[in-house]
Amino acid sequence: MKLIRGLADIIYPPRCAICKQFLWKGPLINEDNSLSLCQTCIADFRHISSPLCPICGVPFPSEIKEDHPCEDCLRKRPFFDTAVAPYSYEGPILEAIHRLKYGAKSFLAGSLGPLLSRFTEERIKESGHLLTMPVPLHPKRVRERGFNQSLLLARHVAKGLKSDLDFLSLKRVRYTLPQTRLAKKERQRNVRGAFQLKNRDAVKGKTILLVDDVVTTGNTMNECARVLKKGGSGKVFCVSLARAVR
Ligand SMILES: [Zn+2]
Ligand SMILES: [Zn+2]
Repeated sequence: MKLIRGLADIIYPPRCAICKQFLWKGPLINEDNSLSLCQTCIADFRHISSPLCPICGVPFPSEIKEDHPCEDCLRKRPFFDTAVAPYSYEGPILEAIHRLKYGAKSFLAGSLGPLLSRFTEERIKESGHLLTMPVPLHPKRVRERGFNQSLLLARHVAKGLKSDLDFLSLKRVRYTLPQTRLAKKERQRNVRGAFQLKNRDAVKGKTILLVDDVVTTGNTMNECARVLKKGGSGKVFCVSLARAVR
């Protein structure tokens, strides 16, 4: 297999999925990774940094470096315990996620997954055992796209954390409009009742790590967390590769 791959790389040298630069010029992300993004593009992913809300993860444009809860979280505490993301949803990371989701470039998860996995290992300091769950897609959407990008990412995260992965117990039962196309108020209504827990025993008393590709307002994660906690789960932590910045 290695030889065939080596030959294929000579005939069709791999290029960065974002900027199209030949990848053999740059260093690898890590050795066992199949190459799909160059170091320059990855270095351009904009990190989310403090000050931010320690609950929902929204960053503040303030100079004061102290984290503090945002207005939305103070008014109504979300069902999840924390939501964190390494990158702001703009520039090359937005491009990469778009290509992964809408360009059917599922191999991009091989480069993006380890980035999310490393970030999660650093940020989620939970001593107990976690159960990793991707935010589910409606079966119709899975058929359209061919895969659930959150599941592809969750596989890497679960592997990194040596946690169990469960992508069957939580289901999306309602076909909803993409959150990005809706106004703030409509987003909450859009996902209400969209998820169902098919197996309560799987989550009972467990600390859950929910994985998604992008968080826009946090309504989707919040609705999943509501359903999981109603079903008897313990804490719910959320991680996503990117977060839309207001
Ligand atoms: Zn590139
Ligand atoms: Zn908040």
